[in-house]
Amino acid sequence: MNQPEQPDILLQIAMRVEAMPIIEQWSLTAHGKIDPALPAELWRGRAHGRQIALVIHGCDATYHCDQIGTETATIVAFLALRCTRAKLLLNAGTCGGFQSQGAHIGDAYMPTRFFFHDQRVDLDLFRAFGIGDRSIADRPSARHAAQAKIGTCSTGSSLDVTASELALFARESVTCKDMEAAAIVRVAHDLDTPFVAVKVVTDLVDHPEPVATAFVRNLAVARARLAVAIDAVVAAL
Ligand code: SAH
Repeated sequence: MNQPEQPDILLQIAMRVEAMPIIEQWSLTAHGKIDPALPAELWRGRAHGRQIALVIHGCDATYHCDQIGTETATIVAFLALRCTRAKLLLNAGTCGGFQSQGAHIGDAYMPTRFFFHDQRVDLDLFRAFGIGDRSIADRPSARHAAQAKIGTCSTGSSLDVTASELALFARESVTCKDMEAAAIVRVAHDLDTPFVAVKVVTDLVDHPEPVATAFVRNLAVARARLAVAIDAVVAAL
């Protein structure tokens, strides 16, 4: 069997609803699961003259929801990069934004700094490893094409937020709170693969409305905005 062409860009998207508008706008074709033991699914196709692969985390067989979060993000990033040999990994998704940083629902960000906000290990050798602070190059032309802002993304395993996390976000001028990016950038680094993230705001972390209510209400707007931003970024990368 012929080896499928090496993708220029591998998009990794946690939730199926976030991915569907992108799959539809480029008419990508389904290529099944990336591994028999995992629900993660792969699509392939072309967009703007680029060979594209797209992987979603897939639906958990026990809990019947998308396998969001850092554990699946790590294993899917590793396997999908190994099996596609993509030249660049692009994590696309939604995030919590911050009023104090000037964010509005539907704003797009292309962060250049990533870390974990809930991996606290107060031991000399492990403190920095837990935080996992990594920076990537800005892509100004792609960012301007997508009308996205630059920023800092903080990743953790909870949708809600603690008071100490809020203080950390303010200290570090965090603009995006998500549940995958810092895990994925680590894998991209380990596999020596350039990394880009595009995140669209579904909810405002420093707003009194509960995150879950805002997320559900704004997801439709945010995923449409994400598809437009991703199209612009891929055309300009
Ligand atoms: N309630 C949703 C589940 C979304 S979980 C549902 O019923 O479908 C949140 C997902 O969106 C994660 O993949 C995460 O990366 C992103 N996200 C959006 N807003 C977030 C926030 N405020 N904090 C953390 N992750 C957020």
